Amino acid sequence: MSPRNPYNRKAGRPKPDHLPTREEIAKGVKQLRRDGSPDANYRERSLALHGLICAKCAREFTWENRRQLTVHHIDGNDKNNPANGSNWENLCIDCHEAEHSRGLLGDYLRGDD
Ligand SMILES: [Zn+2]
Ligand SMILES: [Zn+2]
Repeated sequence: MSPRNPYNRKAGRPKPDHLPTREEIAKGVKQLRRDGSPDANYRERSLALHGLICAKCAREFTWENRRQLTVHHIDGNDKNNPANGSNWENLCIDCHEAEHSRGLLGDYLRGDD
């Protein structure tokens, strides 16, 4: 029995010639961003506008851990994304959670649904 029996070969799944390089991945990500809806970009815009710092506790972030810095919509409407960033607040995940639990509790106490 030959180990190179062609019938044992898995068809239809050619191996890629090479793995994508960092540059190619970055290019793909950029492409995705450009093709995304304008709203999908508000996060990056808010971070660029307000800086990598939490508006509440002033914790600073770096390019590497900036995923822990989130964008809060001050009026609670995530469709309201003015270009000047007036409805955005950069909050670390802890402050963001606190902000929302306070808001929910407030609604609850007021009897709003
Ligand atoms: Zn914070
Ligand atoms: Zn929020």
